[in-house]
Amino acid sequence: MNAPSARRGGLEVWAPSVVPPIGVDLTHEQALAIAFRHLAACGFAENMAGHITWQLDGGTDMLVNPWGLWWQELTASDICVVDSDASVIRGRWDVTPAIHIHTELHRLREDARVVIHNHPYYVCVLAALGVLPELVHQTGALFLDDMCLVPEYDGEVDSPSRAADLATRIGSANLTILANHGVLVTGRSLAEAVYRAASIERVCKLAYDVMLTGRQPSQMSWSDMAGMKKSLVERAADVYWAGAARMTIKADPDVLS
Ligand SMILES: [Zn+2]
Repeated sequence: MNAPSARRGGLEVWAPSVVPPIGVDLTHEQALAIAFRHLAACGFAENMAGHITWQLDGGTDMLVNPWGLWWQELTASDICVVDSDASVIRGRWDVTPAIHIHTELHRLREDARVVIHNHPYYVCVLAALGVLPELVHQTGALFLDDMCLVPEYDGEVDSPSRAADLATRIGSANLTILANHGVLVTGRSLAEAVYRAASIERVCKLAYDVMLTGRQPSQMSWSDMAGMKKSLVERAADVYWAGAARMTIKADPDVLS
């Protein structure tokens, strides 16, 4: 049997002639602070847990949040820089050993410029059940053939060797659910990773609510989902990010300080 072909999607079908801009030029630190605040506002962050790391193109150092600050209070000047082994080389604060989840994934995955980890509530409901979300809505197409489940919990990932083992298990997936723990999201850009992170919590909430009905959800075809996935990655991620940035700055311009 031939493999099904993906329906066309993304920029080859339609590209906007113009899109609303963020309106200000952001430094990398300002953009990252906005990403933390936005995802906290989406319910993605469990108080001060988790990290976002951003390895700029061509480099191995990473921008990251320090230990002890909540995602919703971060400002650009709080952002630290660590080297590829997680030693702090710039910034006022320290980082936890849990950052090795990120350093080892960056080391293995050239495409993962941004790695996001936290414990969003509905992701954690499914993580407690040890399952991936069933993709029951078109936005779920974003995660088509791109999810990994690490089905057993084995304690804190607090050393480079444990993190390297985890990174190997994740392989090329951009979305990994860790049983009894949380989620890891990767992206080629900050916009792409933030869009996936914001989307996965809603995808898991929807999947959970559909499970509660006890009824079989209507199915989408792989081909239609593959076309939709392309559209979401190529068209939606950057535009989503620009809107998230505008609204976050408007809510509290101090995020840029
Ligand atoms: Zn965690």
